[in-house]
Amino acid sequence: MSDNSFTGRSEATKADVSAIQVDDPILEMRDASVTFDMDRGESRVLDQVNLDVQRNEILGVVGESGSGKSMFASALLDAVVDPGTLSGDITYHPDPDRSVDVLDLSPEQLRELRWEEISMVFQGAQSSFNPTTTIRDHFEETIEAHNYDMAQGMAHARELLEDLYLEPDRVLDAYPHELSGGMQQRALIALSLVLEPNVLVMDEPTAALDLLMQRSILSLLNDLQEKYDLTVVFITHDLPLVAGLADRLAVMYAFEFAEVGPADEIIRNPTHPYTRSLLKAVPNLDTPLQEMQPIEGMAPDPVDVPEGCSYHPRCPLADDVCRASNPAYHAVDDSDDHVAACFHWEQASDVLSLTTDGETEHAEIVGKQSADPVVSLTDVDVHFEQEADGGLLSIFDDPDLVHAVDDVSLDVYENDVVALVGESGCGKTTLGKTSIAAQRPTGGSVTYREQDVWDAKDGVGDVETPFEAIRRSLQMVHQDPGGSLNPNRKVQASLEAPLKHWNTGMDAEDRKERVFSMLEYVGMSPPEDYAGRYPHQLSGGEQQRVALIRALLMNPDLILADEAVSALDVSLRVEVMDLMLELQDVFDTSYLFISHNLSNARYFAGNAGGRIGVMYLGEIVEIGPAEEIIANPKHPYTKVLKWSTADLEVDQDVEEPPISSIDIPDPVDPPSGCRFHTRCPEAREACARQQPSLDEHASDDEHRVACFREYDQSHEYWESEPIDDGESTDLFADGSDAAEIESDD
Ligand code: SF4
Ligand code: SF4
Repeated sequence: MSDNSFTGRSEATKADVSAIQVDDPILEMRDASVTFDMDRGESRVLDQVNLDVQRNEILGVVGESGSGKSMFASALLDAVVDPGTLSGDITYHPDPDRSVDVLDLSPEQLRELRWEEISMVFQGAQSSFNPTTTIRDHFEETIEAHNYDMAQGMAHARELLEDLYLEPDRVLDAYPHELSGGMQQRALIALSLVLEPNVLVMDEPTAALDLLMQRSILSLLNDLQEKYDLTVVFITHDLPLVAGLADRLAVMYAFEFAEVGPADEIIRNPTHPYTRSLLKAVPNLDTPLQEMQPIEGMAPDPVDVPEGCSYHPRCPLADDVCRASNPAYHAVDDSDDHVAACFHWEQASDVLSLTTDGETEHAEIVGKQSADPVVSLTDVDVHFEQEADGGLLSIFDDPDLVHAVDDVSLDVYENDVVALVGESGCGKTTLGKTSIAAQRPTGGSVTYREQDVWDAKDGVGDVETPFEAIRRSLQMVHQDPGGSLNPNRKVQASLEAPLKHWNTGMDAEDRKERVFSMLEYVGMSPPEDYAGRYPHQLSGGEQQRVALIRALLMNPDLILADEAVSALDVSLRVEVMDLMLELQDVFDTSYLFISHNLSNARYFAGNAGGRIGVMYLGEIVEIGPAEEIIANPKHPYTKVLKWSTADLEVDQDVEEPPISSIDIPDPVDPPSGCRFHTRCPEAREACARQQPSLDEHASDDEHRVACFREYDQSHEYWESEPIDDGESTDLFADGSDAAEIESDD
C-alpha cells in the first residue's frame, strides 16, 4: 500500500471510496499510485487513485496531457514500465462472483489477462504493427500464442473486420503500410478483440486520424460495444470527442480524478472548478467565441505537486482550506453517482459561469484586413510525381501524377486571417507552402505585393522585390515546433540565428535585447531563464511560442501556421491562438492557418474577422467569413466536416455521417466532374460529368460555394437523376482508393 507521507499531503485523500463505487464493477482500482525515482526527487504520476469501472459501460477518462491518464490505463493492466513502481489494489471481476487480484498475477497469467480478458489499443497503429509482416500474420500469431483454435479465431477475425467496414481478404493480405491510417487503426481494434476480451482499454486511439475518421470509428465502437457486450475505457484529452460516446466521464487532474459522473451530468452540470474551466477552454463550434477562455496557469510537475488541493494555484475559488488539505469526494447534489473532489463545489457554478449574460453572444468581430493583397494565387496547380512503391518492377512504370492543388485562386490581404481546412491529402499544406514561396506551382501564378514570386526567383523581367526579401516576408510555423527547433541549440542561439543572417547591422547586444523582449512578450519570463534552455527543456506550448518568435523576428507580412496548435493539448490551444492573434495586432502580419480541425479554424479566423476556406482533393470548395461558414455551411462537404467535429453535447448523433464513403479518393486519379460526387449524398448524374465553379452563380461575393445546388433551377443538376452506385451503405468502402498523402498533409 502506498505511503502518504511523501509530500505532506492529507491522509484523507479521496478516502471515501463509497463515493465512486458502482453496482457491478468489472474493474476496481483502490489507492493506486505509480512513482518513479528521479534525480529531482520522487515523481508521482498516479496518486492514490480510486475508481470503479462498471460492467458493459463506456467510461471516458479525460484530462490534459501529463495528467496521468495513460498511467491510469497502464496501472489497470499492471503494465507500468520500469523503473516505475505501482502500489495499491486492482481487482478484476470476470463475472460478478469472481475476483482476480491483478497485482498478484504471474507474468504468464498477466500475459493471458492482457489479451484474453482486458485488451488495449494505443494511438498510432503504425507503431503497433510489425511493418514486415502482413495483417494476417498478426492475427495468426496472436491466436496461436494464446492456444486458441485457429479456424475459429480467424473466422472471428473476419467477422470483426467486417464489423469495422473492412474487406477481410484485402486487409488480411496487406502489409500495414498498404493501408491508410484509418484502416490500420480499425484493423488494430479488430486484432485487440480477436480473443474476445471483456474489457477494451483505448488510449487516445484516434488522435492521429482525421476528424471524420475519428468520429466514424467512434460510431463503430458504439456498435461493437453493444454487439460483443464490451466494457470500454476510452482515454483522451479531447473532451468533445468522448462526450457523446461515454456513459460516464472521469476527469483527471494532477494524477488523480477531480470529478466522476454520468457524461450528461459532467457536461451539463460540471461541478469541479477544473472541469468547468476545461469545458470553457475547449474550442468548439457552438460556444460564442468570446466565451472560450484558456485555463490560467500550468498543470503541476509530478515531482512538485502543490500541497492541499493540487488545483489551488489555478483555481479562482482557492482559499486557505484548499491550500492546507486535499479535498475528499463530495456527492454532488446528494447524487449517488456524481462526485467532485472540491471543498467549494457548491459555489463553482456561480463563480465560474459557463455562459455570459447573453448580450455578448455571437457579437460580430470585424477584421482589420486591408484591401491590398499581400499574396495572390491565380489559377494555381501543384502536381507531383508520386514516388514508386519500391517494387522491383515499379522502375518500369510511369510515375503517377498527384493533383495536390488544382486551379486555386486566393488573395490574402494585409492583416488578414485565412484558415484552410480539410482532410489529410486535401492539399491544404501544399497550397500553404505554395503561398509562402516554399513550393513552386506547376501552373498559374503566385505574386507577393504584385511581384511574381517565381519570376523574382528566376530573374525574369523587371524584378522589383528580390526573392530573398520575399522569402523573408513569408514565414512558417510548423505543427511540431520541437522538430523544427535545433535540439542542440539553446533558445537564445536559435532565435539569434535568423537575426544574424538577415540583420547584419545588428550587434550582439541588440540581438540579445530583441530576443529577450520577445520572450518576455510571449510570457516566457524571466527571459534569461528560457533563453538558456534547450528545446527539450520546454513544454509543447513553450516550444510553439519560440517557433512563433522566430517567425516574427523577421517582421513577416504573412505567416503560414501549419497545424500550429494541433499537437497542443486542447486546453492550451485557445491560449496559443489568443497569443498569435495578439501578436498579429502588434506586428501587422497576416496568417494562413492550416487545420484539419474546424473548431480551431473557427476560433482563430472567427476572432480575427477572417475567412475559412474548405479544401477537398486539391480544390477550394467553399470559402467565406468564418462564423458564416460555421453557422450556414452550404457545400455538402463542409456539412460533413461540421458533422465530424464533435460538440460538447451528450446526445450528439454519432450514427449517420452525411457522406456515402468515409475514405478519401486517390488524388492520383480524382473523380470526374465534381470531385466530391463519389461521397456526396446529394450527388446527381450531372455532378459526375460537370465541374461546379466557386465563382459562377455565387449569390454572395463573400461566401462562395462550388456546388450545383447553389446554381439556379435552370442548371441540369436539378433535372438529372440521383447517383445510385448500389453501395450507398458502404461508408467505409476502401478499395485501392484509400491513398493518403500523409507526408504532405
Ligand atoms: S475550490 Fe479549493 S478544493 Fe475546490 S478545486 Fe478550487 S482549490 Fe481545489
Ligand atoms: S456539385 Fe453535386 S456532387 Fe458536388 S457537392 Fe454539389 S451536389 Fe454534391
